[in-house]
Amino acid sequence: GATIGILGGGQLGRMMAMAAAQLGYRCHIYAPEADSVAAEVSAEFTCADWHDADALARFVQACAVVTLEFENIPVAPLLAIPADKLAPGVRALEVAQDRLKEKTFIEALGGRPALFAAVDSREDLDDAITRIGAPGILKTARDGYDGKGQWRVTSAHDADGIALPGQPLVYEGFVHFEGEFSVILARGRNGEVRFWDSAQNVHENGILALSSVPASARILEDVAAARKLATDVADALDYVGVLTLEFFATPEGPVFNEMAPRVHNSGHWTIEGALTSQFENHIRAICGLPLGDTALTAPRVEMRNLIGEEALHGAAILADPANHLHLYGKAEARAGRKMGHVTRLMRD
Ligand code: ATP
Ligand code: MG
Ligand code: MG
Repeated sequence: GATIGILGGGQLGRMMAMAAAQLGYRCHIYAPEADSVAAEVSAEFTCADWHDADALARFVQACAVVTLEFENIPVAPLLAIPADKLAPGVRALEVAQDRLKEKTFIEALGGRPALFAAVDSREDLDDAITRIGAPGILKTARDGYDGKGQWRVTSAHDADGIALPGQPLVYEGFVHFEGEFSVILARGRNGEVRFWDSAQNVHENGILALSSVPASARILEDVAAARKLATDVADALDYVGVLTLEFFATPEGPVFNEMAPRVHNSGHWTIEGALTSQFENHIRAICGLPLGDTALTAPRVEMRNLIGEEALHGAAILADPANHLHLYGKAEARAGRKMGHVTRLMRD
């Protein structure tokens, strides 16, 4: 079969490569770090810096199509990839890797992020807190994930305790949400869009802990508006592949949190819980194949992340036959590290 190139070497790439193998494709991973859990299940691995133009050119040459499992990739080297070979495209990446660009883009499409302000100095932070108020959250504009690069501000005094990291920041008003949910869609090369049911997401210490379907009745009221925005985002970017938007459900409707131009942790339940998983539909979309049915396989589905040492109890988890265990094969069970997940299908 043809070779699919995947930029990034983590667990999302691993699960993508497993879905690709089912459809008869080989995968070639490109990542800067030598230990790649995606490379372990793929035919080829190029370990090279994002800025290594020769290595990247050889990789692109060897692949029929190139996709990504990680959005914090410098955009400049990717401009060398023919536009019809990279899915999703450079524009989606540019928007999604910068919280300021992302929020501005969402507002232009009629979506509503939390109140926000760019912060480049202590003076900016004081102004932002005065204008938007506290509580709020200060976030690095780029490179954050799993709640890293964030500072909670409960009162204006807290600004004194934050050593600003010397990179662009965003201050956001705290959203008193009634629940968190994600919209995950797949968009094909012909513009066809399919959604999975929206999972209700619970975060602990800034890291996703639990995704459950169906979401609460309160969240379900916000899903239609959130899907409309997600469709507009995908259309505006001429997006191909799986796209995720995170939202807060509020009495005033959905508040946009952030987007990811890729498959998403809150969609891992789709491997067993939907007729076609996010990983399979992503591969289908980028390869120009028809998309599969995204309907549920059970009335209720729950996905729990295994963080750090929680992943050491695999055998106990499998003692319950309703549990489906996924371990990512990471060598070190560091605290706060996503090591695997468990999905449960529930009949009633
Ligand atoms: P991810 O791993 O999802 O990319 P991240 O590091 O980009 O995470 P965010 O999604 O910005 O982090 O924030 C993580 C969590 O913190 C959110 O899911 C939410 O629970 C909480 N949070 C973030 N921003 C706000 C906000 N403005 N108001 C209320 N809660 C927030
Ligand atoms: Mg994020
Ligand atoms: Mg998030």
